[in-house]
Amino acid sequence: MKKKKNIRFCPNSDALKGSLVLGYVENEKVEYFNEKVYVDKNLKAIIKNKENEVRKYIRFTHPCMKSSCKHWNNKCQIPESFSSLNNKGDELNTLKKCVIQDECQWFSQRSYQACANCQYILNYTKDITI
Ligand code: SF4
Repeated sequence: MKKKKNIRFCPNSDALKGSLVLGYVENEKVEYFNEKVYVDKNLKAIIKNKENEVRKYIRFTHPCMKSSCKHWNNKCQIPESFSSLNNKGDELNTLKKCVIQDECQWFSQRSYQACANCQYILNYTKDITI
């Protein structure tokens, strides 16, 4: 995916057309991949066959939908709700950089505070229309 000007990525999107796989859930935490994982034909077939597991264990990213998203109110309200680092005690300098950090909507708003919380958001992927 080419980096487009003014495009910010949602780090916790549904599995939509154009989504990438950002990471997977292990030990109640999102582990991010080291490179962008594009959804090709084979991966799409796996996702379709394993929807329940995918909903629970796979984290997707997609360009932020801004005002078309229910969480948008001049900016994304999700990272704005992060009141402190997180309750796991992670130090900022130990956080692993994910592949969308430079283009992430949450990071653009709350910097590393967003990262520190992002990895613990384990809500299910709802829509799979990839
Ligand atoms: S407004 Fe927030 S939750 Fe909605 S798509 Fe953008 S980054 Fe994601």
